[in-house]
Amino acid sequence: MRALVTGGAGFLGSHLCEALLNRGDSVVCADDLSTGRLENVAAFQEHPRFTFLRADVSHSLRVRGPVDLVAHLASPASPPDYHRLPLETLAVGSRGTENALELAAEKGARFVLASTSEVYGDPTVHPQAESYWGNVSSIGPRSVYDEAKRFAEAISMAYARSLGVNVGIVRIFNTFGPRMRAEDGRVVSSFIAQALNGDPLTIYGDGQQTRSFCYVDDLVRGIVAMTDSSETGPINLGNPVERTVQELAELVLELTGSGSPIEFHQLPKDDPTRRRPDISLAETLLGWHPQVSTEEGLHHTVEYFRAHRREVSAAARSIAGAQFEGTPSKVAWRDAPAMAKLA
Ligand code: NAD
Ligand code: UDP
Repeated sequence: MRALVTGGAGFLGSHLCEALLNRGDSVVCADDLSTGRLENVAAFQEHPRFTFLRADVSHSLRVRGPVDLVAHLASPASPPDYHRLPLETLAVGSRGTENALELAAEKGARFVLASTSEVYGDPTVHPQAESYWGNVSSIGPRSVYDEAKRFAEAISMAYARSLGVNVGIVRIFNTFGPRMRAEDGRVVSSFIAQALNGDPLTIYGDGQQTRSFCYVDDLVRGIVAMTDSSETGPINLGNPVERTVQELAELVLELTGSGSPIEFHQLPKDDPTRRRPDISLAETLLGWHPQVSTEEGLHHTVEYFRAHRREVSAAARSIAGAQFEGTPSKVAWRDAPAMAKLA
């Protein structure tokens, strides 16, 4: 099989490229390196079945020769990244997805869209099943990402219905692992970098909001299962074990043996209160279930960050307040109860 992975030099994309190469596929990785890095694909740059194409897929997307699969992962994904790149995020979710679908239509390829749990917004239904339509602000700061992905789902379904493109949509819940950028501002990479650097761990709000964290190897297995199936979805992919952000901070401190303090910062606007995937569909239709516990995944990720200490030291101090346009109002540990009211 010859696969095109857009966003293939990013965190998830590079693992997907690797998984496809490892099973014998040829891979074309298209990436503009806006939030990805060449280092992520450096290990297979010389691979005879790997091609890197530097391209902004919102602008145009052309690939010579046959393509059997288009896996469309290109998009900023970390909140600080999409706050920094709002127009680019909207463009890649809309025009970028259209270009990727056009290519899939032209080549007769299977098309798999990396959608997101953000389509559920700040959910009023818990856990989130695919039948839930979501609670999303169309004008808030997160809307550039959430609505772009909702549009991406809509246009994918329109191509499936009107042009018969073989579309599959996965809704990915928070995923972490090696090759995340230490400074990308997402909670797992931030907490690990801060812990290893001895800097305070920055909890936003009172830390009682929840997420469910999936290890990258599991997630990529799920994406590959979707590419191999003819399911349209959308299908949730994520680890259903739910934790508070405070529990995650404590776990990272324990796993790293760090003596870093915890600081509470203002909660970003529209930050979802709780999130946990219902993965019944993935279990039934794809035979997929996560196998790596969050603890084990964190252990591998800590090891990766330990091996990239220079990057971690450079990054950690710039992380605090990365979600905010202005300077965050910092609240000390002892003021946690007051912070709960503020949040
Ligand atoms: P990432 O930022 O590491 O990777 C995204 C990649 O897309 C980067 O390499 C970036 O350079 C590339 N890109 C962005 N805009 C582009 C454009 N216009 N043209 C070409 N390349 C472009 O993020 P990630 O965590 O690997 O996320 C990958 C995909 O999975 C995204 O679509 C994201 O929305 C989705 N997703 C990820 C998560 C998660 O927890 N990691 C959760 C939900 C959804
Ligand atoms: N968060 C935090 N401290 C950080 C980064 C994030 O407390 O340094 C919180 C954030 O407010 C959210 C959760 O952790 O409630 C997950 O954030 P992330 O950016 O990783 O992903 P999201 O699920 O919000 O897209």
